Amino acid sequence: MTCSKTSTLKSKFMPKTILKNIFGYTKFRPLQEQIISHTLAKKDCVVLMPTGGGKSLCYQIPALYFEGCTLVVSPLISLMQDQVTNLKQLGINADVINSTLTPQQQAEAFKRLFSGETKLLYVSPERLMLDGFLEKLPPLALIAIDEAHCISEWGHDFRESYRQLNKLKSEFPDVPLMALTATATPRVLTDIQTQLSIPTAPVFKGSFNRENLLYSIRPKANTYNQILNYIKNQPGQSGIIYCQSRKNVDNLAEKLTKDNIKALPYHAGLSTQIRADHQNKFKYSKTDVIVATIAFGMGIDKPDVRYVIHQDIPKSMENYYQETGRAGRDGLPSECILYYSYADSKKYSSFIQQITNPNERKHAEQKLLQMTAFAYKPLCRRKQLLAYFNEHLDTKDCNNCDICLNPPKQWDATIISQKILSCIYRVKERFGAMMIVDILKGSTQQRIQQFGLHKLSVYGIEKELTNQQIRDVIDYLTFTQAICIKGDTYPVLGLTQKAKPILFHDEPVIMPVYTKTKSKTKKHTTIHPSNPELFEKLRKCRLDCAKKQGVPPFMIFSDKSLHDMAAKKPKTMLEFLEIHGVGKVKAKSLGDIFLNLINS
Ligand code: ADP
Ligand code: MG
Ligand code: ZN
Repeated sequence: MTCSKTSTLKSKFMPKTILKNIFGYTKFRPLQEQIISHTLAKKDCVVLMPTGGGKSLCYQIPALYFEGCTLVVSPLISLMQDQVTNLKQLGINADVINSTLTPQQQAEAFKRLFSGETKLLYVSPERLMLDGFLEKLPPLALIAIDEAHCISEWGHDFRESYRQLNKLKSEFPDVPLMALTATATPRVLTDIQTQLSIPTAPVFKGSFNRENLLYSIRPKANTYNQILNYIKNQPGQSGIIYCQSRKNVDNLAEKLTKDNIKALPYHAGLSTQIRADHQNKFKYSKTDVIVATIAFGMGIDKPDVRYVIHQDIPKSMENYYQETGRAGRDGLPSECILYYSYADSKKYSSFIQQITNPNERKHAEQKLLQMTAFAYKPLCRRKQLLAYFNEHLDTKDCNNCDICLNPPKQWDATIISQKILSCIYRVKERFGAMMIVDILKGSTQQRIQQFGLHKLSVYGIEKELTNQQIRDVIDYLTFTQAICIKGDTYPVLGLTQKAKPILFHDEPVIMPVYTKTKSKTKKHTTIHPSNPELFEKLRKCRLDCAKKQGVPPFMIFSDKSLHDMAAKKPKTMLEFLEIHGVGKVKAKSLGDIFLNLINS
């Protein structure tokens, strides 16, 4: 390599030019530019950005800028393959070396590597640490470690093989190292820095606010029909539905299929082959919906997932954030709906009680409590979610969650709360919620007579509210911890210190009205193509091209690119190059087909 060659390369391809010419994007996302210039100065760093934040470009652009090869360590074979296929579509020489290659393919990959052709080489940590592999590598320009949280036992995807990556810095002391993750806990970050021997490397932390995601939480009532209608209103769009158990997954997938929805199940109880098949069908848009347990997610980078539905409450806020984060990676409006009922929290809580390790049990209880509070509080979902990760939004409301778009009515539940609390007091904290409701409503069931509860002064004093409404207030008081749940054999309601001011000092209880109305937020979420007919034609054309090339449709063009085409209707190749996501190589390979269609 000569100096002049290096310098011409640099002046010709500035990062911004690479962004436009190769990737077809006009603007950097927040922090991308800083991270890229930091890396071009050959310095190490940690990149912490949410899913869909655009982490890959942070090493891909330096890789194209530098002479030599950039090594990318990635934990999953399917992820690596996708990235490489994607890069090849853009005309970039990327390669993968892993256990799925035949010896012949591997020899060819090495040949390309040593000829200097390969700009990005994707390797699994297991492969990288095999004896002799590191020594075999040609001089490297940059090492990127994707999903770097896998190195930490405090992360959710700990991998033994990531541990060995600690050798990289000593083997390649002069090669800049970039660790990328979406996991924000301080403990995981410190772990990443220490384990990779880059303790002083700066952390570039992006905002975790996913502005394009609409969060909403709906009461769990008639849930199946709600889900079915929702899906029917988004024909041809991709979505994920998370359920708590394998049984729920199977049931829901089966019901949806009977109702003519293209839905497939995914959980750890299915064979590896079936799981891979279902995941692939989803990736290639051959099925619209994946119904899954938390086992689904890591291996998929599908950018056009338009909705993530939680049929059951997630285990923790981290889970909720991560799972909803799989929607809308492409930045287009997408929706995250959680169906919630207090009964779910209780059911889950009873599972937690079976955990034998007391620390683990406490931890799980705490996580569930936080998740329950999130679901219950009638406050901006985004603010609550970000606050959980120590990020504080300044704006008054986010304008993109059910609470901000449709502020819930509140009502004064002080009097009924006093009736409930006093009833609990009078039965000497010996009964569960159902019995309390029955007493207040003056039920004539036998058990009431049997315990002489019909003689209590609170018997039959509630005439207006329905059983369900009283039940909601009990749940709310439990949530605010004026009521506690105790009892060894079955749950009975008890009073806490917080009950006193309500009972004796008329402290008001103001709670949200849990309406079962449909979301009025539809308009904010759907993307309206400016020319629906043309858009459909473009989609069809994209599908044809994808089939011909054997790649997923989103790798041909993103939805955003198609929207842009439908809106701008480019006439010439020059105009086509102005479309979002159209770089030089794609313009050449696909421009004519799409231009013809648009102008026919
Ligand atoms: P992450 O790894 O952080 O989850 P990705 O690197 O997969 O995110 O990027 C998510 C999506 O955003 C990809 O489709 C990518 O092409 C797109 N993207 C990244 N940077 C930009 C940008 N500057 N302008 C437009 N789209 C971008
Ligand atoms: Mg990524
Ligand atoms: Zn909001």
